[in-house]
Amino acid sequence: MSSGHPDHVALAPGKAIEVSEGIFAYIQPDGSWFVNNTAFLLGSQGVVSIDACSTEQRTRDYLDAIAAISPKPVRTLINTHHHGDHTFGNYLFPTAAVIGHDNVRAEVLAHGMPFSAPIWTETDWGGVRLEPPFITFSDEITVHSDDLACQVTYAGQPAHTTNDSYVWIPERKVLIAGDLLFNGGTPFLMAGSIDGTISVLEERIKPLVAETIIPGHGAVCGPEVVDEVLGYLKYVRSIAAEAHAGGLTPLLAAREFGAGPYAELLDSERLVGNLHRAYADLDGTPPGAPIDYPAVLAEMVAYNGGKPLTCLA
Ligand SMILES: [Zn+2]
Repeated sequence: MSSGHPDHVALAPGKAIEVSEGIFAYIQPDGSWFVNNTAFLLGSQGVVSIDACSTEQRTRDYLDAIAAISPKPVRTLINTHHHGDHTFGNYLFPTAAVIGHDNVRAEVLAHGMPFSAPIWTETDWGGVRLEPPFITFSDEITVHSDDLACQVTYAGQPAHTTNDSYVWIPERKVLIAGDLLFNGGTPFLMAGSIDGTISVLEERIKPLVAETIIPGHGAVCGPEVVDEVLGYLKYVRSIAAEAHAGGLTPLLAAREFGAGPYAELLDSERLVGNLHRAYADLDGTPPGAPIDYPAVLAEMVAYNGGKPLTCLA
């Protein structure tokens, strides 16, 4: 029932793409589990990186891609949220101040080291050491790359996680969205809030009127991706309302309704986790409050025919 791909396909390497002068997206195909995007900005004294990668090898490849463009050290590393695909590689930036929302630090430490079994197919994580942000903020900071101001803003409420920030560069109308936006992959709200994400996208992201968006996963895109993600979220919310009223469990609801018009998005088993979060929203559970994540992830494996979820990182 899950969309996706064979377990051992060879993915194309990550690629640095200059989206505006001195602003690069680093896009890693195919954007599925733990294969994320990052971004970096060139300054006269150093590089600002937004996010790291998941495995040691992927982060080393990312650093090589930066080094091929700039001889300067990465002096600033901003984490958009705590998920390991964006933070496990932090320890490979020894020259950087690592910055994130207060809860990024707390959640990196709470999650701990990477693991695969029994949820994901086996992955070589390398010699990961946890390196949470050591400069934290609660609302917003501005990072300057020479004269270019980059506003790093907490989403203000649980959305993809409890600690999402987005990076907005007003002078260039470039948005680095973290996992508030997926392009071609199934959005994943298990650890945040469906309602919260809809509110953040409608009230904070759309009004920016970004021209260029670097999503957390998938190709560089324009603002049309916001409506695509909103469409998926509203689909999840509508089937959750119907199934919840009908007494179906989230897993049964996922099997009954499927991903509908969104079945082609990668990693469609996330529907199960998203329905659990939608049910929690309906039940009045505070947004972002922990639910039984190991049990929900195990149900995603069940939805996937009992097979571990494909991780190509
Ligand atoms: Zn994430």
